[in-house]
Amino acid sequence: MRFEKRIPLSTPTIHGEEMIYVKEAFDKNWIAPLGFNCDNFEAEMAAFMAEDEKDKYYCLALSSGTAAIHLAMKLAGLKAGDRVFCSDTTFAATVNPVSYEGGIQVFIDSEFDSWNMDPKALEKAFEKYPDTKIVALAHLYGSPAKMDEILEICEKYNAILIEDAAEALSATYKGRQCGTLGRYNIVSFNGNKIITSSGGGMLITADKKARDKALFWATQARENALWYQHEEIGYNYRMSNVVAGIGRGQLIHLEEHRALKEKIYRRYEQGFKGLPVKMNPYLEDTKPNFWLSCMLIDEGVDVSPIDIINKLNDANIEARPIWKPMHMQPVFKDNDFISANGNSVGEEIFKRGLCLPSDIKMTEAEQDAVIDIIKSFF
Ligand SMILES: *Cc1c(COP(=O)(O)O)cnc(C)c1O
Repeated sequence: MRFEKRIPLSTPTIHGEEMIYVKEAFDKNWIAPLGFNCDNFEAEMAAFMAEDEKDKYYCLALSSGTAAIHLAMKLAGLKAGDRVFCSDTTFAATVNPVSYEGGIQVFIDSEFDSWNMDPKALEKAFEKYPDTKIVALAHLYGSPAKMDEILEICEKYNAILIEDAAEALSATYKGRQCGTLGRYNIVSFNGNKIITSSGGGMLITADKKARDKALFWATQARENALWYQHEEIGYNYRMSNVVAGIGRGQLIHLEEHRALKEKIYRRYEQGFKGLPVKMNPYLEDTKPNFWLSCMLIDEGVDVSPIDIINKLNDANIEARPIWKPMHMQPVFKDNDFISANGNSVGEEIFKRGLCLPSDIKMTEAEQDAVIDIIKSFF
């Protein structure tokens, strides 16, 4: 069996409103890295993030989630030679901006309950490097991390939390939106994320001054003068008004995308009943966005995720390994890695896990075919 058309992991799902906002940008000749779509997209995202009226957030639309993380690192005061405690199992974009500023990543292992940063390992890291002032945490595949425990540790050591919610937009922790839980927070609108602007990201913070400072850096650090006056190094990180139009059109459909993603997750969960596998987990009191459905093969079962990925690929179905932990990456071979008890949970998940097709345009029949192929291994 081979599908004529490839079944992808996750691709954009476009509805129609996107084009209305984009057309408006063209009609008004607002084809620039600023304009009404940027302003409105920021306001609409700020409203989405707020629980009620007294909850106020300030958003900054940027060219990528990675740019947002870079500016968050600068806002947090990262200086050359400083250590930053980072999620170990994540996409490289969470941790690369530390190097842009000359900082040093120390990788913190995952736990099995949510696959995110292990508070026990974080505590150990602070015992070893108590003067560390920044923690960069990602919510893997849209499942929120153990935020209460992690925030308590950050508070104890007077460290700033940067929340990378690139994969977790619309996921909630105890009713609060991911992207509002740290001091400086980011989301991504890259093409594979739950909603997309084709490419882009946003910085989210409750600190208006910080948002304004980030805007200053993102627009070439131009001082207030008639001529171009520069007292700091700047960046060209602003989101285009055209791109922001796509994002606005997508934001309308965010909850709908989340519901479809959850449906896919539940169908896998049901389909794998009785097999020695588990779905990617989530904590009580959290609502993941189910961005990617993943599975973990039970310990001691002689089935390799690579064989499953290859067989799915033969049927023209895309599947992928779990993000390879950062401490296993050659580029970070000299960085420290801290785990709770010496074993690496992230490495274990990488060896036994895989990401499954989670595209919301996938039909039930297509998903059943994926499930059948996986079942044939057990
Ligand atoms: C996608 C992603 C990013 C980067 O976002 P871009 O908009 O692609 O720069 C950062 N962190 C994580 C965890 C991601 O999945």
